[in-house]
Amino acid sequence: PHPSSSPLLAHLNPEQLAAVTLPAGHALILAGAGSGKTRVLTTRIAWLLQTGQATPGSILAVTFTNKAAKEMLARLSAMLPYNVRGMWIGTFHGLCNRLLRAHHQAARLPQAFQILDTQDQLSAIKRLCKQFNVDDERFPPKQLMYFIAGCKEEGMRPGDVVASDPDTRKKVEIYQLYEEQCQREGVVDFGELMLRSFELLRDDEHLRHHYQRRFQHILVDEFQDTNKLQYQWLKQLAGNEVGGRYVSGSSVIAVGDDDQSIYAFRGARVGNMADFIREFDVRQQIKLEQNYRSYSNILDCANALISHNSNRLGKNLRTAQGPGEPVRIYEAPSDLAEASWMVDEIKQLVKNDGYARQEIAVLYRSNAQSRAIESALFNAAIPYRVYGGLRFFERAEIKHALAYLRLLENPHDDTSFLRVVNFPPRGIGARTIEVLQDTARSSGTSLSDAVTAVGGAAGTKLQGFVAKIDVLREQTQGKTLREIIETVEEESGLLEHYRNEKEGADRIENLQELVTAAESFVTQEGFGRDAIALPLDEQQNARPGQDLTQSPASQGLDPDAPLLDEPLRPPAGTAAAMVNADTGETLSPLAAFLTHAALEAGDNQAQAGQDAVQLMTVHASKGLEFDAVFIGGMEEGLFPHENAMMDRGGLEEERRLAYVAITRARKRLYLSHSQTRMLHGQTRYNVKSRFFDELPEEALKWITPRQGGFGTFAPHSGAYGAYGSRASGQLGSNSGWAGKPDVFASPPVPPRKAEPSHGLKAGMNVFHNKFGEGKVLALEGTGDDARAQVSFGRHGTKWLALSIAKLTIVE
Ligand code: ATP
Ligand code: MG
Repeated sequence: PHPSSSPLLAHLNPEQLAAVTLPAGHALILAGAGSGKTRVLTTRIAWLLQTGQATPGSILAVTFTNKAAKEMLARLSAMLPYNVRGMWIGTFHGLCNRLLRAHHQAARLPQAFQILDTQDQLSAIKRLCKQFNVDDERFPPKQLMYFIAGCKEEGMRPGDVVASDPDTRKKVEIYQLYEEQCQREGVVDFGELMLRSFELLRDDEHLRHHYQRRFQHILVDEFQDTNKLQYQWLKQLAGNEVGGRYVSGSSVIAVGDDDQSIYAFRGARVGNMADFIREFDVRQQIKLEQNYRSYSNILDCANALISHNSNRLGKNLRTAQGPGEPVRIYEAPSDLAEASWMVDEIKQLVKNDGYARQEIAVLYRSNAQSRAIESALFNAAIPYRVYGGLRFFERAEIKHALAYLRLLENPHDDTSFLRVVNFPPRGIGARTIEVLQDTARSSGTSLSDAVTAVGGAAGTKLQGFVAKIDVLREQTQGKTLREIIETVEEESGLLEHYRNEKEGADRIENLQELVTAAESFVTQEGFGRDAIALPLDEQQNARPGQDLTQSPASQGLDPDAPLLDEPLRPPAGTAAAMVNADTGETLSPLAAFLTHAALEAGDNQAQAGQDAVQLMTVHASKGLEFDAVFIGGMEEGLFPHENAMMDRGGLEEERRLAYVAITRARKRLYLSHSQTRMLHGQTRYNVKSRFFDELPEEALKWITPRQGGFGTFAPHSGAYGAYGSRASGQLGSNSGWAGKPDVFASPPVPPRKAEPSHGLKAGMNVFHNKFGEGKVLALEGTGDDARAQVSFGRHGTKWLALSIAKLTIVE
């Protein structure tokens, strides 16, 4: 059939049509965001099949993510009556895996070889280091892991590395040992998948020719982010090099956008584009400049922004759609207010404007930003899903810190014990743990109690760990929640551990963010809030007058765990809300916070496919599109990120990131920045991002807090009350935005001050009729909320609600 008569091609513009129906030969399609690059690739595959120019088996397409591969397969099977399974469509890693499975013998692998993820890889390296007595101070396993990955990305085996100094020689030696270990155990890491299959093609002429003949059509999406080895891999498949040119064999169609190159830090080479044109003697170059995704206000912002970069390959985007709504810009007084504003907007979008939740995305530059947003969504009971990363409270470093905190509260929490007994590593091996577990099992005690029964050096190490926890518990007596967490993160060695890690900066940020989380839990939400929100049946199970010395995290969750009475007291008296009427005991701030963390981590997690708001980093959003997009934290130091502001290259990569973020939006785009931000445990006073200055004013609508009547914003000055009451629901409406009062969705709450109350002072000796004599360590809150932390010797340290607990001062 004549090409243009196919219904497949009916909706393509002339440039897209040209790209889809290109004759055999290599081609580069260079085009901006939303111009249909991915669609062109998919349609070309369908067209090749439909016109009989290709069989499914002759097609190999590389996508950026597994999700993209799945989508492409789904679209193709909807378009075509073929079984699309025969096609090789997937990520580089996915395709390499397939190749190695098919030729495992030639690749010297067992058919059922296992793939190591990063965590597995690290433990494999650690095991190795232990076995060969590698000094892990001098050669931290994580560094070794990055060294090995870096070598593999460059296509280098141990023998290829030029090692001029002793340290490098040692690393190469370990690389060699690691390879042998993996080979022995029949496992491969991600880098190995790529390198091994590259070598297979390079060294096995028969196989190479087979695949070169087979894959007549090679299509690569997001080509701007391929690294060196991936490009070499493609060259192996692409056909014969004759006189330095890839002239025969298959057609390679590479699709990319230099403006969206955002993975330089992982070895991506935009230079691959120029190399491709030269080495493959590319004659066909097509530009697509019509954008089908976004309204022109959004696009104008994207174009104007990216025009500030130099050395672009040069292209612009236009759209036939109208201007659409203005790009909304919001200046928040604080990150919490920003998150709260986003949530109010999201509610409006869903309720009044008919947006599906999964068509709304919140994008952020740094993972640490997600916590405030997650928390706001969680509190508003809006389902959400975090992509490309774990939810905050599920991240490994956070779980480690929480495990230490749990052990302070409950030394018998065996799960927490196991999680951190050897983390950071303190030389307690798997065999020792086994012995300990056996001992505990036979004597019916917790692991912590069983350590004294383990003898030898192993026993000494275990006892050292338990002693460390005991010391930490002592050290943190009477401290605020913030101080407790800071002390634990430092003294446990967690911070030190991540400081020594090459890529530990992100984890340190998250650990600092945990302090922020605790701080806002105490000041914003009032601790104990989650305790009030117990499921109803648990509330009914509540039995009065029980001992509270058990694991607080399990209170109210485990039907056999002791529960507090009066859980239904109104939230106003947050601290006193879960009080044992008999003793006046309340949850400690730490216990309340741990409960909060457990609930937030475990519940309300949107399942895949559920209608949920999408949260992800800008990096993870590449190639995706949403009806409404929020980009938060557009501030100097955050976006552009402070690490990238020093040099032009870094700043331009940040700008490309912003370009990627903006071009995800179809209909509505919201950009926000905040005057203050609690990040990494510190309040930062941020200036709005320079990127705002690069946007065209006529496409924007600034939504700022109303001046006059509300006073000037003065964070931490105690002037919060000036903002008046919560005014959610006033933002946005059916009638649009013009003339609406712009108000803060949620005014910040002043931090509560610890005040001596009920005549008590820290250091006083008191008497409680159940716990006996004790010493006041700390006081918090006032009036009905007042509580005291009292150390009762044998009964341990407790937080008591002073309005209920009858404490008498002992002279
Ligand atoms: P990105 O650079 O973000 O990966 P892209 O260039 O790959 O973007 P696509 O995702 O393929 O762009 O297309 C963007 C949107 O425009 C999609 O929703 C797609 O279906 C739509 N689209 C593309 N071409 C056309 C067309 N000719 N007519 C109508 N819609 C189109
Ligand atoms: Mg795309």
